[in-house]
Amino acid sequence: MTATPERYARSIADLTRSKKTLAGGVSSNVRLGDKPFPLFFDRGLGSHLWDVDGNEYIDYVLGRGPLLLGHTPKEVVQATVDQLWRGQIYAAQHELEYELSERVSRIIPCADLVRFGISGSEAVHGALRLARAATGRQTVLKFEGQYHGWLDNILYSLSPDPTRAGHALHPATLAESSGQFSGADSHVVVLPWNNIEVLSQYLEQHHNEIAAIITEPVMCNTAVIPPLPGYLEAMRDLCTQHGVVLIFDEVITGFRLSLAGAQGRFNIKPDLTIFGKAIANGMPISCLAGREQFMGLIAQGKVGHGGTYNSLPAAVAGAIATLDLLEKDGAAVYDTLETTGQSLMQGIRNLTAKHDIQAVIQGYGAIFYLGFPVQGANLPVGQAITDYRSSLAMDNDLYTIFVSAMVDRGVRIIPRGNWFLSSAHNQADVESTLKAIEEVFAEVI
Ligand code: PLP
Repeated sequence: MTATPERYARSIADLTRSKKTLAGGVSSNVRLGDKPFPLFFDRGLGSHLWDVDGNEYIDYVLGRGPLLLGHTPKEVVQATVDQLWRGQIYAAQHELEYELSERVSRIIPCADLVRFGISGSEAVHGALRLARAATGRQTVLKFEGQYHGWLDNILYSLSPDPTRAGHALHPATLAESSGQFSGADSHVVVLPWNNIEVLSQYLEQHHNEIAAIITEPVMCNTAVIPPLPGYLEAMRDLCTQHGVVLIFDEVITGFRLSLAGAQGRFNIKPDLTIFGKAIANGMPISCLAGREQFMGLIAQGKVGHGGTYNSLPAAVAGAIATLDLLEKDGAAVYDTLETTGQSLMQGIRNLTAKHDIQAVIQGYGAIFYLGFPVQGANLPVGQAITDYRSSLAMDNDLYTIFVSAMVDRGVRIIPRGNWFLSSAHNQADVESTLKAIEEVFAEVI
């Protein structure tokens, strides 16, 4: 389980006990893969987290994305707690709800109308339903290596086995889970990302069947792959030309890559968009937003959208407090994030050069990717990974060893290679992190 069991004695006992009644000892399958094993945590503050054994970590997991302001920022916690004392749930409207929808609509260029839910997965579900209703077409086009939640109609080809995944330019649609509804795959087409020729040719022939293209505008769920110059613009044009609904899934990039998300950073307006995670810095709320032409179908009651906990007052209060902080001082927080993240990325590049270790480091200050290519992989210098298939050149086993060694040294990172930054991370965190990496490079890798 781990090379240093004594360090994690209480977590090990907790996991053993937990597994007896909680399936796998975790509440989300992605946590099954945590390294060195699913640890138990006690508290978090700023950029730091403490486990039940009292070990302290610099946290680059950050709840897998929500904690853009770090753990427990006092303004967000206070607003949430204050609202909780005024009532947990009304199952009715409240004034904070439209305060937040007005805010989102002002910040996000495509957000004429907004609806709130709890999870990103269900907001994706709503967007796909809207696209089908609006176009009368059934099929959705997604990209290999991207994730849009765990529901049946879209959980395909996140990390498909390349021996079963077919031709790189025309991948198979592969279910990620057993038990997925077997008919759903016939209405999901998978294409490689960052290849406008393939997309253009496909739409030329099949646009009459395609209701929507759903994409992460930066492919955060595989190697934090930026869009190639002109790619998203061309995708936007193709969708307009063929009457296909363009959906940006900004569950990770939203409020992280800029205040207006990736669509603001790249200046591209999708038809529908989805936010979750960072919008409320850890409180459970998601947002489906988009052009009136589509969202109006929900407003008119023609397209179903519901949920007992939608617009939960405490979560909405947390989101408003989060946006207050993100918008403060002309959204200065984004400069801090970029500076800290770039300083860490550059420090890692320097260490890989010093220790003669091949590595790929790509992305943005607020979220970046680190991975080590397999022996003999012939990757170009610079931005090496452009799609799912090129990510297969990375050595996942070696990265797993790296992750466990980093956790042992008090730096918590995600086994898939993406590093999340928060505005609470500072230069001291960067230096401590680089010290741990240097130790791991020298002693373990
Ligand atoms: N879309 C993207 C891009 C995601 O990364 C995720 C979750 O990580 C989801 C959708 C699903 O969101 P949730 O886990 O809130 O259901």
